[in-house]
Amino acid sequence: MKVKNLIIGAGVTGLSAAYHLQKLGKKDFAVLERAAEPGGVCASVTHKNFTFDYGGHVAHARRAYTRELLKKLLGKNAALIKRKAWVYLQNTFVPFPFQANLSYLKPEIVEECVTALVAARKHKKHIFENFADFALSSYGEGIYKYFMRPYNEKLWRAKAEDLSCVWCADFVPQTDMEDIVKGAYFKTRASYGYNTDFIYPKTGGIGALARALAAETENIFYNTEVKKIDAVKKMVFTNKGIFEYENLINTSPLKTFVSACGGLEKNIYEAAKELKNNKVYVLNLGVNRAVENISWVYFPEDKFKFYRAGVQSGFSPSVAPEGCGAPYVEISAAGNSKKPDFKKLEKEITAALKDAGILKNEDKILAALWLEINPAYVTYDARREIVVPQIIAALKEKNIYGVGRYGAWEYSFMEKNILDAKELAQKL
Ligand SMILES: Cc1cc2nc3c(=O)[nH]c(=O)nc-3n(C[C@H](O)[C@H](O)[C@H](O)COP(=O)(O)OP(=O)(O)OC[C@H]3O[C@@H](n4cnc5c(N)ncnc54)[C@H](O)[C@@H]3O)c2cc1C
Repeated sequence: MKVKNLIIGAGVTGLSAAYHLQKLGKKDFAVLERAAEPGGVCASVTHKNFTFDYGGHVAHARRAYTRELLKKLLGKNAALIKRKAWVYLQNTFVPFPFQANLSYLKPEIVEECVTALVAARKHKKHIFENFADFALSSYGEGIYKYFMRPYNEKLWRAKAEDLSCVWCADFVPQTDMEDIVKGAYFKTRASYGYNTDFIYPKTGGIGALARALAAETENIFYNTEVKKIDAVKKMVFTNKGIFEYENLINTSPLKTFVSACGGLEKNIYEAAKELKNNKVYVLNLGVNRAVENISWVYFPEDKFKFYRAGVQSGFSPSVAPEGCGAPYVEISAAGNSKKPDFKKLEKEITAALKDAGILKNEDKILAALWLEINPAYVTYDARREIVVPQIIAALKEKNIYGVGRYGAWEYSFMEKNILDAKELAQKL
């Protein structure tokens, strides 16, 4: 088959590219997806009458365009939900963002954090060497020690000093000193950041969004896995045959894409080998009780194996049978680590969730499903900042466009993916 625009992947990015090409009347495209269904990381899985997602997956719609698109796609199935998020530290639920709600902690910790904050802000920098430098300079030793460092090192599986901070603007709520001090002495329950409210489908899990987008899009080839790309002849080799293209839109992981792509300069293959990532294991649980209506909780402490736990049935009760609940936990692991002992881990996790009061001793586990996301978070080390632009530019010279969380090898979210793919469709 020969098309003008060929898209690898039917996750939200690939679907958005196709949807917007089609809207522009440019129907000469095809989407190749190795799975049997759309969604990628944003799919949902049905298991023992529960609908499970790949970890906490909610749609942010900060831009009017995305809000309208989500409304159009989901229609009456869209629910607008207010975030109910906490940080669990020293047996206490501190409202998120941590730095704006210190008053929930012991007075001596509050004092330590506020004193360090005031000292840090005296010499506040505007250019930072790495994430540790950014967090220390912005929030001081106390907030850094109790939350910023342990949480981020657990999530990224990298040292705070080895992480850049280019991702922080979108993901770390920026907090004025006045707000931190106010929140240190009064229970203001300040709530801000990029996801204070979000959209989630009333039924069908987050996968309903990808399915709605796919339903509006033609020319999707499922069960079609890209094995090799010839960047010179502009051909893609799949288990279903050969596709020729003028432009190739890649949303599959950049690292594996480059290794499967023939016809690039040698230094690009070397550069791609430097890309690092973590992987995330999600344990989805189905329990015989409607678990408390919380969105999610961040766990910075080492004694908890997971960095975040949440309750999917808090976003939408319909993901669980009536009277039941669906909590989940997300565990990060190094990209090259071996699979853990899931049975053992499951026991430790249910005990830890009981410890934190998210599960109760009498709760019965009706379903347990592990899902793996690999890659999950791309590692923002100093080399990423150099090699990703090199690789993306080299591919662009061959009319190959890397877009999306994994195609552009970035820390991004569905709204950005949808908008970036729309912009690319318009350019092409
Ligand atoms: C734990 C976690 C929680 C998250 N929570 C949120 C959240 O709450 N809100 C939010 O907005 N974002 C969230 N995100 C980010 C969000 O999941 C991604 O930004 C988004 O799903 C990326 O979509 P994508 O289409 O770019 O990539 P993907 O979803 O990875 O899609 C790529 C597609 O390409 C296919 N593919 C790969 N290789 C091949 C091949 N060789 N041949 C054919 N097909 C191939 C895959 O099967 C897949 O369907 C989260 C991410 C993680 C890891």
